[in-house]
Amino acid sequence: KKVLITGGTGSIGKRLTELLLKKGYEVAYLSRKKKAIPSVQVFEWDVEKGYLEQGALDNLHFLIHLAGAGVAEGRWTDKQKKIIISSRTDTITFLANQLKQKNILPAAFISASGSSYYGADSGNTRNTEASPPANDFLSHVTLEWEKAADLIKNQEVRTVKLRTGVVISKEGGAMPKIALPARFGFGAPLGSGKQWVPWIHMDDICQMYIDALENDFWDGAYNAVAPNPVTNEELTKQICIALDKPQWLPNVPAFALKLAFGEMASVVLGSSYLVNERIRKDTEFVYAFPNIKEAVKDVLQ
Ligand code: NDP
Repeated sequence: KKVLITGGTGSIGKRLTELLLKKGYEVAYLSRKKKAIPSVQVFEWDVEKGYLEQGALDNLHFLIHLAGAGVAEGRWTDKQKKIIISSRTDTITFLANQLKQKNILPAAFISASGSSYYGADSGNTRNTEASPPANDFLSHVTLEWEKAADLIKNQEVRTVKLRTGVVISKEGGAMPKIALPARFGFGAPLGSGKQWVPWIHMDDICQMYIDALENDFWDGAYNAVAPNPVTNEELTKQICIALDKPQWLPNVPAFALKLAFGEMASVVLGSSYLVNERIRKDTEFVYAFPNIKEAVKDVLQ
């Protein structure tokens, strides 16, 4: 069965591909650049120009949407903000139109979404999938992203949205950046350190994509996070332990982070507590890494 992944060249896509290939799926990517990747068919697309390489949608069975410009790569200028949104929404709107025109219906469509749906800073509020969205920039991004995904859902395709927390991974995403100071012995909590970090191990998020493809009872939005959220302080501590480095510096003051990163500092300073309620109640998902200690140890050692 062919699984077509937008942005499959990214960090989640890479690991997901390994797991899908192991299970015998055929994997194809939609990428902005043609490149040779072993065991994967890469099709080119250019959404601005309305270009989709021929054959990309042939024999399509499942569709996964991971494409999106990095959120934590540089300051959020107005131009960057537009790219962050359009790379997630215009891409999927384009695909929805292509599917409609060609009269193709995937068996399921799984789209990434963000834990920031509930806002960069919701304090100690326990956010379940029933909690309302916030109205800051990243929340707006996830709302538009999920709305765009609904264009495919509205074509009667079972659609799953994974509101993903910080992915704990060896490469890609925020984790290597979070761990970098600790590697040099400068591990320190950020801001108060009391802010909640919604997290999930790379293998668990990838397995969620596969479970969601394979089981019809997955439908709608899920908080794709581990069952045990941690504070930034605890995460920093576990990173230092895993790297066998001391955690001796005082907290990095919030104002310094705001000065360095501007509005984007809210990503690390804000507190966001997500409850994996629907994963727990409505699915049979089994976590490989339910606790931060083992998750961090696994990726850093
Ligand atoms: P990556 O940044 O590693 O990869 C995303 C892929 O998107 C890239 O490889 C690229 O593929 C494509 N892409 C990048 N910029 C653009 C653009 N301007 N227009 C179209 N496509 C673009 O992301 P991850 O694998 O880490 O994450 C996948 C999805 O999950 C993302 O949408 C992300 O926001 C979301 N997510 C990730 C989290 C994490 O911690 N990793 C946490 C929460 C959500 P190519 O160059 O081949 O076109």
